[in-house]
Amino acid sequence: MTLVNQQIQLASRPQGEPGADNFRLVELPVPALADGQVLVKNHYLSLDPYMRGRMNDGKSYAQPQPLDTVMIGGTVGEVVDSRHPGFVPGDKVVGMGGWQLYTVVDAAQPGLLRKVDTTHVPLSAYLGAVGMPGVTAWYGLTQIIAPKAGETVVVSAASGAVGSAVGQLAKARGCRVVGIAGGADKCGYVVDELGFDACVDYKAQPDAQALLAALQTAAPAGVDGYFENVGGAILDAVMAQMNAFGRIAFCGMISGYNGEPIPMRAPQLILTQRLKLQGFIVSEHMQLWPEALKELGTAVATGRLKYRESVAQGLAAAPEAFLGLLKGRNFGKQLVRLA
Ligand code: NDP
Repeated sequence: MTLVNQQIQLASRPQGEPGADNFRLVELPVPALADGQVLVKNHYLSLDPYMRGRMNDGKSYAQPQPLDTVMIGGTVGEVVDSRHPGFVPGDKVVGMGGWQLYTVVDAAQPGLLRKVDTTHVPLSAYLGAVGMPGVTAWYGLTQIIAPKAGETVVVSAASGAVGSAVGQLAKARGCRVVGIAGGADKCGYVVDELGFDACVDYKAQPDAQALLAALQTAAPAGVDGYFENVGGAILDAVMAQMNAFGRIAFCGMISGYNGEPIPMRAPQLILTQRLKLQGFIVSEHMQLWPEALKELGTAVATGRLKYRESVAQGLAAAPEAFLGLLKGRNFGKQLVRLA
Protein backbone atom coordinates (compact mmCIF):
# COMPACT_ATOMS: atom_id res chain seq x y z
CA MET A 1 0.00 0.00 0.00
CA THR A 2 1.38 3.42 -0.92
CA LEU A 3 1.64 5.80 2.02
CA VAL A 4 0.24 9.28 1.45
CA ASN A 5 2.31 12.23 2.59
CA GLN A 6 1.01 15.71 3.36
CA GLN A 7 3.28 18.70 3.14
CA ILE A 8 3.08 22.48 3.31
CA GLN A 9 4.82 24.33 0.53
CA LEU A 10 5.74 27.96 0.07
CA ALA A 11 3.15 29.12 -2.49
CA SER A 12 4.20 32.78 -2.77
CA ARG A 13 6.54 35.30 -1.18
CA PRO A 14 5.07 37.74 1.34
CA GLN A 15 5.22 41.50 0.88
CA GLY A 16 5.64 42.66 4.48
CA GLU A 17 3.60 40.61 6.92
CA PRO A 18 3.05 37.02 5.74
CA GLY A 19 -0.41 35.46 5.59
CA ALA A 20 -1.94 32.00 5.36
CA ASP A 21 -2.21 32.43 1.58
CA ASN A 22 1.59 32.28 1.28
CA PHE A 23 1.34 28.56 2.12
CA ARG A 24 -0.22 25.58 0.35
CA LEU A 25 -1.08 22.14 1.75
CA VAL A 26 -0.53 19.31 -0.76
CA GLU A 27 -0.85 15.53 -0.71
CA LEU A 28 1.55 13.27 -2.54
CA PRO A 29 2.66 9.63 -2.37
CA VAL A 30 5.66 8.66 -0.24
CA PRO A 31 8.30 7.43 -2.73
CA ALA A 32 9.90 3.98 -2.43
CA LEU A 33 13.23 4.00 -0.60
CA ALA A 34 16.51 3.72 -2.48
CA ASP A 35 19.64 2.19 -0.94
CA GLY A 36 20.96 4.30 1.94
CA GLN A 37 17.61 6.02 2.52
CA VAL A 38 15.45 6.08 5.62
CA LEU A 39 11.74 6.89 5.95
CA VAL A 40 10.89 9.00 8.99
CA LYS A 41 7.40 9.60 10.34
CA ASN A 42 7.63 13.07 11.84
CA HIS A 43 6.09 13.49 15.29
CA TYR A 44 6.80 17.19 15.89
CA LEU A 45 7.68 20.08 13.61
CA SER A 46 9.59 23.05 14.98
CA LEU A 47 8.44 26.53 13.97
CA ASP A 48 11.21 29.12 14.18
CA PRO A 49 11.51 32.83 13.41
CA TYR A 50 14.31 32.22 10.85
CA MET A 51 11.72 30.71 8.51
CA ARG A 52 10.35 34.22 7.91
CA GLY A 53 13.70 35.23 6.38
CA ARG A 54 13.75 32.17 4.13
CA MET A 55 10.38 33.19 2.67
CA ASN A 56 12.03 36.29 1.16
CA ASP A 57 14.03 36.36 -2.01
CA GLY A 58 16.66 38.83 -0.75
CA LYS A 59 20.31 38.59 0.24
CA SER A 60 20.85 36.86 3.56
CA TYR A 61 23.15 34.41 5.29
CA ALA A 62 21.12 31.52 3.84
CA GLN A 63 19.55 30.71 0.47
CA PRO A 64 15.87 31.63 0.09
CA GLN A 65 13.32 28.85 0.33
CA PRO A 66 12.42 27.95 -3.29
CA LEU A 67 8.75 28.44 -4.22
CA ASP A 68 6.52 25.36 -4.57
CA THR A 69 8.73 23.20 -2.38
CA VAL A 70 8.20 21.91 1.13
CA MET A 71 8.89 24.52 3.81
CA ILE A 72 12.18 24.02 5.60
CA GLY A 73 11.96 23.02 9.27
CA GLY A 74 13.44 20.95 12.05
CA THR A 75 11.57 17.77 13.00
CA VAL A 76 11.73 14.88 15.42
CA GLY A 77 10.17 11.54 14.67
CA GLU A 78 10.52 7.82 14.33
CA VAL A 79 12.13 5.68 11.66
CA VAL A 80 9.42 3.57 10.02
CA ASP A 81 11.46 2.00 7.21
CA SER A 82 15.17 1.84 6.53
CA ARG A 83 17.57 0.85 3.78
CA HIS A 84 20.54 2.17 5.77
CA PRO A 85 22.44 -0.16 8.15
CA GLY A 86 22.70 2.55 10.84
CA PHE A 87 18.94 2.95 11.33
CA VAL A 88 16.14 0.54 12.18
CA PRO A 89 12.39 1.06 12.52
CA GLY A 90 11.61 2.47 15.96
CA ASP A 91 14.72 4.66 16.18
CA LYS A 92 13.89 8.14 17.44
CA VAL A 93 15.58 10.76 15.27
CA VAL A 94 16.03 14.49 14.82
CA GLY A 95 16.61 16.14 11.45
CA MET A 96 15.44 18.80 9.04
CA GLY A 97 12.35 16.95 7.86
CA GLY A 98 10.39 20.03 6.79
CA TRP A 99 6.70 20.87 7.17
CA GLN A 100 5.43 17.39 6.30
CA LEU A 101 4.23 14.12 7.80
CA TYR A 102 6.90 11.87 6.28
CA THR A 103 10.45 12.53 5.15
CA VAL A 104 12.75 10.39 3.05
CA VAL A 105 16.30 11.05 4.23
CA ASP A 106 19.61 10.15 2.58
CA ALA A 107 20.99 8.87 5.84
CA ALA A 108 24.41 8.26 4.34
CA GLN A 109 24.94 12.01 4.17
CA PRO A 110 26.60 12.98 7.45
CA GLY A 111 24.61 15.22 9.79
CA LEU A 112 21.20 14.87 8.12
CA LEU A 113 19.70 12.49 10.64
CA ARG A 114 20.73 11.97 14.27
CA LYS A 115 19.47 9.30 16.66
CA VAL A 116 18.35 10.62 20.02
CA ASP A 117 17.82 8.99 23.40
CA THR A 118 14.41 9.70 24.90
CA THR A 119 15.02 7.89 28.20
CA HIS A 120 15.53 11.10 30.18
CA VAL A 121 14.77 13.82 27.63
CA PRO A 122 11.36 13.96 25.89
CA LEU A 123 11.48 13.73 22.10
CA SER A 124 10.05 17.22 21.57
CA ALA A 125 12.81 18.81 23.68
CA TYR A 126 15.30 17.95 20.94
CA LEU A 127 13.67 20.76 18.95
CA GLY A 128 13.90 23.21 21.83
CA ALA A 129 16.02 23.29 24.97
CA VAL A 130 18.16 20.32 23.83
CA GLY A 131 18.18 21.36 20.19
CA MET A 132 18.91 24.31 17.96
CA PRO A 133 17.32 27.00 20.19
CA GLY A 134 19.14 25.69 23.27
CA VAL A 135 22.47 25.64 21.47
CA THR A 136 21.76 29.16 20.20
CA ALA A 137 21.28 30.33 23.79
CA TRP A 138 24.41 28.50 24.93
CA TYR A 139 26.56 29.86 22.09
CA GLY A 140 25.58 33.52 22.40
CA LEU A 141 25.87 33.45 26.17
CA THR A 142 29.08 31.50 26.65
CA GLN A 143 31.02 32.47 23.52
CA ILE A 144 30.04 36.13 23.06
CA ILE A 145 28.71 37.50 26.35
CA ALA A 146 30.99 35.21 28.41
CA PRO A 147 29.50 36.42 31.70
CA LYS A 148 31.26 36.39 35.05
CA ALA A 149 29.46 35.59 38.29
CA GLY A 150 27.88 38.72 39.73
CA GLU A 151 27.39 40.42 36.36
CA THR A 152 23.96 41.43 35.08
CA VAL A 153 22.69 39.71 31.93
CA VAL A 154 19.55 40.85 30.10
CA VAL A 155 17.70 38.82 27.48
CA SER A 156 14.77 39.84 25.28
CA ALA A 157 11.98 37.49 24.09
CA ALA A 158 12.75 36.03 27.52
CA SER A 159 9.96 33.46 27.76
CA GLY A 160 10.72 31.99 24.33
CA ALA A 161 12.70 28.95 23.29
CA VAL A 162 16.05 30.75 23.15
CA GLY A 163 15.47 33.44 25.78
CA SER A 164 14.29 31.08 28.51
CA ALA A 165 17.45 28.99 28.13
CA VAL A 166 19.72 32.07 28.05
CA GLY A 167 18.39 33.27 31.39
CA GLN A 168 18.66 29.91 33.13
CA LEU A 169 22.17 29.26 31.80
CA ALA A 170 23.22 32.72 33.00
CA LYS A 171 21.67 32.09 36.44
CA ALA A 172 23.63 28.85 36.65
CA ARG A 173 26.77 30.94 36.07
CA GLY A 174 25.98 33.19 39.03
CA CYS A 175 24.62 36.21 37.17
CA ARG A 176 21.78 38.55 37.94
CA VAL A 177 19.32 37.85 35.15
CA VAL A 178 16.70 40.22 33.79
CA GLY A 179 14.20 39.21 31.12
CA ILE A 180 12.23 41.42 28.77
CA ALA A 181 8.97 39.93 27.55
CA GLY A 182 5.54 40.90 26.28
CA GLY A 183 2.82 40.60 28.91
CA ALA A 184 2.37 39.93 32.61
CA ASP A 185 1.94 36.17 32.12
CA LYS A 186 5.24 35.76 30.30
CA CYS A 187 7.05 37.97 32.83
CA GLY A 188 5.52 36.11 35.76
CA TYR A 189 6.60 32.81 34.26
CA VAL A 190 10.27 33.74 33.79
CA VAL A 191 10.56 35.08 37.34
CA ASP A 192 8.40 32.61 39.27
CA GLU A 193 9.09 29.41 37.35
CA LEU A 194 12.44 29.93 35.64
CA GLY A 195 14.11 31.84 38.47
CA PHE A 196 15.01 35.08 36.69
CA ASP A 197 15.67 37.93 39.13
CA ALA A 198 13.37 40.39 37.35
CA CYS A 199 11.44 40.89 34.14
CA VAL A 200 10.34 43.99 32.25
CA ASP A 201 6.98 43.76 30.50
CA TYR A 202 7.74 45.97 27.50
CA LYS A 203 4.10 45.99 26.42
CA ALA A 204 3.10 47.67 29.71
CA GLN A 205 5.44 50.63 29.09
CA PRO A 206 3.74 53.61 27.46
CA ASP A 207 6.91 55.04 25.86
CA ALA A 208 10.68 54.72 25.51
CA GLN A 209 11.33 56.68 28.69
CA ALA A 210 9.12 54.38 30.74
CA LEU A 211 10.80 51.33 29.20
CA LEU A 212 14.22 52.66 30.19
CA ALA A 213 13.01 53.49 33.70
CA ALA A 214 11.63 49.96 34.14
CA LEU A 215 14.91 48.50 32.94
CA GLN A 216 16.88 50.72 35.32
CA THR A 217 14.78 49.43 38.21
CA ALA A 218 15.28 45.82 37.11
CA ALA A 219 19.04 46.23 36.47
CA PRO A 220 20.14 48.88 38.98
CA ALA A 221 23.85 48.06 38.59
CA GLY A 222 23.66 48.42 34.79
CA VAL A 223 23.90 45.70 32.15
CA ASP A 224 27.10 43.76 31.41
CA GLY A 225 25.73 41.32 28.86
CA TYR A 226 22.72 41.62 26.58
CA PHE A 227 21.35 38.75 24.51
CA GLU A 228 19.45 40.45 21.70
CA ASN A 229 16.47 38.70 20.13
CA VAL A 230 14.26 41.61 19.14
CA GLY A 231 15.90 44.92 18.07
CA GLY A 232 14.29 48.36 17.77
CA ALA A 233 13.05 50.20 20.87
CA ILE A 234 14.07 47.33 23.18
CA LEU A 235 17.66 47.40 21.93
CA ASP A 236 17.75 51.19 22.37
CA ALA A 237 16.62 50.90 25.99
CA VAL A 238 19.17 48.23 26.87
CA MET A 239 21.98 50.09 25.07
CA ALA A 240 21.28 53.12 27.28
CA GLN A 241 21.76 50.97 30.39
CA MET A 242 24.93 49.13 29.26
CA ASN A 243 27.99 49.25 31.51
CA ALA A 244 31.46 50.00 30.17
CA PHE A 245 32.94 47.00 28.32
CA GLY A 246 29.51 45.36 28.03
CA ARG A 247 28.91 42.64 25.44
CA ILE A 248 25.88 42.29 23.20
CA ALA A 249 25.22 39.03 21.36
CA PHE A 250 23.10 39.80 18.28
CA CYS A 251 21.06 36.65 17.92
CA GLY A 252 17.83 37.90 16.36
CA MET A 253 15.95 41.08 15.50
CA ILE A 254 12.43 39.77 15.19
CA SER A 255 10.80 43.23 15.36
CA GLY A 256 12.21 43.87 11.87
CA TYR A 257 11.57 40.51 10.17
CA ASN A 258 8.66 41.83 8.10
CA GLY A 259 10.85 44.58 6.70
CA GLU A 260 10.07 47.30 9.26
CA PRO A 261 12.98 49.74 9.63
CA ILE A 262 14.66 49.32 13.03
CA PRO A 263 17.30 52.04 13.30
CA MET A 264 19.63 52.13 16.31
CA ARG A 265 18.97 55.38 18.20
CA ALA A 266 22.37 55.96 19.85
CA PRO A 267 25.22 54.04 18.19
CA GLN A 268 27.68 56.43 19.84
CA LEU A 269 27.17 54.35 23.00
CA ILE A 270 29.22 51.60 21.35
CA LEU A 271 32.17 53.95 21.50
CA THR A 272 31.57 55.78 24.76
CA GLN A 273 30.80 52.54 26.67
CA ARG A 274 33.45 50.52 24.74
CA LEU A 275 30.87 47.87 23.87
CA LYS A 276 31.45 44.66 21.97
CA LEU A 277 28.62 43.77 19.57
CA GLN A 278 28.70 40.48 17.71
CA GLY A 279 26.17 38.71 15.54
CA PHE A 280 26.23 34.94 15.08
CA ILE A 281 24.48 32.11 13.25
CA VAL A 282 24.35 28.97 15.35
CA SER A 283 24.62 26.56 12.42
CA GLU A 284 28.06 27.98 11.62
CA HIS A 285 29.46 26.62 14.88
CA MET A 286 28.72 22.91 14.59
CA GLN A 287 32.01 22.01 16.31
CA LEU A 288 30.61 23.39 19.59
CA TRP A 289 27.21 21.66 19.41
CA PRO A 290 28.31 18.46 21.23
CA GLU A 291 29.63 20.45 24.20
CA ALA A 292 26.50 22.61 24.29
CA LEU A 293 24.11 19.67 23.90
CA LYS A 294 25.86 17.81 26.70
CA GLU A 295 25.28 20.66 29.16
CA LEU A 296 21.72 21.27 27.92
CA GLY A 297 20.75 17.58 27.89
CA THR A 298 22.06 17.00 31.40
CA ALA A 299 20.36 20.14 32.70
CA VAL A 300 16.99 19.13 31.20
CA ALA A 301 17.28 15.52 32.35
CA THR A 302 18.00 16.64 35.93
CA GLY A 303 15.27 19.30 35.95
CA ARG A 304 17.68 22.23 36.23
CA LEU A 305 16.74 23.63 32.81
CA LYS A 306 13.02 24.16 32.44
CA TYR A 307 11.14 24.88 29.26
CA ARG A 308 7.63 25.43 28.06
CA GLU A 309 5.99 24.48 24.76
CA SER A 310 3.15 25.88 22.66
CA VAL A 311 1.89 22.94 20.64
CA ALA A 312 -0.38 23.37 17.60
CA GLN A 313 -2.29 20.23 16.57
CA GLY A 314 -1.86 18.85 13.06
CA LEU A 315 0.07 19.93 9.99
CA ALA A 316 -2.76 22.14 8.68
CA ALA A 317 -2.39 24.30 11.81
CA ALA A 318 1.27 25.09 11.06
CA PRO A 319 0.82 28.30 9.00
CA GLU A 320 -1.40 29.99 11.64
CA ALA A 321 0.93 28.88 14.42
CA PHE A 322 3.89 30.31 12.51
CA LEU A 323 2.13 33.62 11.93
CA GLY A 324 1.32 33.68 15.65
CA LEU A 325 4.97 33.13 16.56
CA LEU A 326 5.89 36.29 14.63
CA LYS A 327 3.33 38.20 16.72
CA GLY A 328 4.29 36.78 20.12
CA ARG A 329 1.22 34.55 20.44
CA ASN A 330 3.44 31.57 21.32
CA PHE A 331 4.35 31.05 24.96
CA GLY A 332 7.53 28.98 24.90
CA LYS A 333 8.88 26.80 22.11
CA GLN A 334 6.41 26.70 19.20
CA LEU A 335 5.84 23.17 17.92
CA VAL A 336 3.32 21.42 15.71
CA ARG A 337 2.26 17.93 16.69
CA LEU A 338 2.11 15.76 13.58
CA ALA A 339 1.57 12.28 15.01
P1 NDP B 1 10.55 32.68 20.60
O1 NDP B 1 10.09 31.38 21.15
O2 NDP B 1 11.21 33.65 21.53
O3 NDP B 1 9.31 33.39 19.90
C1 NDP B 1 9.44 34.65 19.33
C2 NDP B 1 9.12 35.74 20.37
O4 NDP B 1 9.58 36.98 19.88
C3 NDP B 1 7.63 35.96 20.56
O5 NDP B 1 7.05 35.05 21.46
C4 NDP B 1 7.59 37.36 21.10
O6 NDP B 1 7.78 37.36 22.50
C5 NDP B 1 8.82 38.00 20.46
N1 NDP B 1 8.40 38.95 19.42
C6 NDP B 1 7.74 38.69 18.29
N2 NDP B 1 7.54 39.82 17.58
C7 NDP B 1 8.07 40.82 18.31
C8 NDP B 1 8.17 42.21 18.12
N3 NDP B 1 7.70 42.81 17.02
N4 NDP B 1 8.78 42.93 19.07
C9 NDP B 1 9.27 42.33 20.16
N5 NDP B 1 9.21 41.01 20.40
C10 NDP B 1 8.60 40.26 19.47
O7 NDP B 1 11.50 32.43 19.38
P2 NDP B 1 12.94 31.73 19.43
O8 NDP B 1 13.35 31.57 20.84
O9 NDP B 1 12.91 30.57 18.55
O10 NDP B 1 13.88 32.84 18.76
C11 NDP B 1 14.26 33.99 19.48
C12 NDP B 1 15.17 34.83 18.59
O11 NDP B 1 16.37 34.11 18.31
C13 NDP B 1 14.58 35.21 17.23
O12 NDP B 1 14.92 36.53 16.94
C14 NDP B 1 15.28 34.27 16.29
O13 NDP B 1 15.34 34.76 14.98
C15 NDP B 1 16.64 34.15 16.94
N6 NDP B 1 17.42 32.97 16.58
C16 NDP B 1 18.66 33.17 16.05
C17 NDP B 1 19.50 32.12 15.78
C18 NDP B 1 20.88 32.38 15.28
O14 NDP B 1 21.57 31.45 14.89
N7 NDP B 1 21.33 33.62 15.27
C19 NDP B 1 19.03 30.73 15.94
C20 NDP B 1 17.71 30.63 16.56
C21 NDP B 1 16.94 31.73 16.83
P3 NDP B 1 7.13 38.52 23.41
O15 NDP B 1 5.67 38.19 23.50
O16 NDP B 1 7.86 38.40 24.69
O17 NDP B 1 7.36 39.80 22.69
